[in-house]
Amino acid sequence: MSNTLVQFLLLVTIFLLSASVLVVQRIRDTTKKEGLKLAWAALGGFLFLSGMGCFGFLYTNQTEGAGHYEDSLIACTLLASAVFVLGVCFVSLLTAKDLARIDGLERAAFFDPLTRLFTRGRIDTLLDIECERSRFGVTQLSVLLLDIDNFKTINDTLGHRAGDSVLEEVGRILKKAVEPPNVIGRYGGEEFLIVAPNTSSALAERHAENIRAKVARATVKVEGKVVPLTVSIGVASNSVFRRGSSDLVAAADTAMYAAKQRGRNRVVIADELDEPITRLRKTYA
Ligand code: GH3
Ligand code: MG
Ligand code: MG
Repeated sequence: MSNTLVQFLLLVTIFLLSASVLVVQRIRDTTKKEGLKLAWAALGGFLFLSGMGCFGFLYTNQTEGAGHYEDSLIACTLLASAVFVLGVCFVSLLTAKDLARIDGLERAAFFDPLTRLFTRGRIDTLLDIECERSRFGVTQLSVLLLDIDNFKTINDTLGHRAGDSVLEEVGRILKKAVEPPNVIGRYGGEEFLIVAPNTSSALAERHAENIRAKVARATVKVEGKVVPLTVSIGVASNSVFRRGSSDLVAAADTAMYAAKQRGRNRVVIADELDEPITRLRKTYA
């Protein structure tokens, strides 16, 4: 093989390696993890060094004169390796883009865009998991259903956008007030569900009272005006009755409804209601 052809192969190899460096940079941009960014930057650095090595080889080949059989072999091997590297980089870029898309979809499925709390679907799944765990173990499980009091008045007097800002603020307050392993999600429009594993009815009541007081104390301002904000909370636990997830939420819902009837801004425990919860729920429906 002539020197000219060897040099041509080397130039193509250098071109492919440079393209690979650019693809590596794009892969780097798809990730937010610092460790991965660093790893891809290092790989890009090695590709650059390979390119420089090819330049060195090109230079010696030019100055050497008559072509050697080994030079042709090395040039072909380098070219094949560069094609392989570029291919791997492209496949990695496509995979990284797929992962970023899946991550986005997972975020949309798991997190409510307004309040940044879990979505209804996610909190339901977490509740099911905890329910199964508590059913077969000795642990107790409680749920707290919160509903903002007179929220419609906020919408009606300040507008829907102001209502949205209040919901965002409530999301922030609740996120701070709920500590792991307890989890919270936006259950409906202005309703929130807290799942509290390993929590007895009495402990759940303390949590609920603490959250109720925190919301009532918070100063929420919209367009410079302070918006009075309170929540009614229904608490249900499977410590007395072994309830499934939908029965637990239904019991908490009934208790929350009772809290509304008793004047709002209060906590009501499902098991302490005078009437049996099943009968109350039927009346409610
Ligand atoms: P109560 O104390 O009995 O709960 O009264 P309330 O006014 O809070 O209850 P109601 O169910 O009558 O009103 C809830 C309102 O919440 C009605 C609905 O328009 C509003 N809402 C639901 N989702 C959203 C939302 O995402 N943004 C805004 N701004 N309002 C919402
Ligand atoms: Mg409601
Ligand atoms: Mg309400």
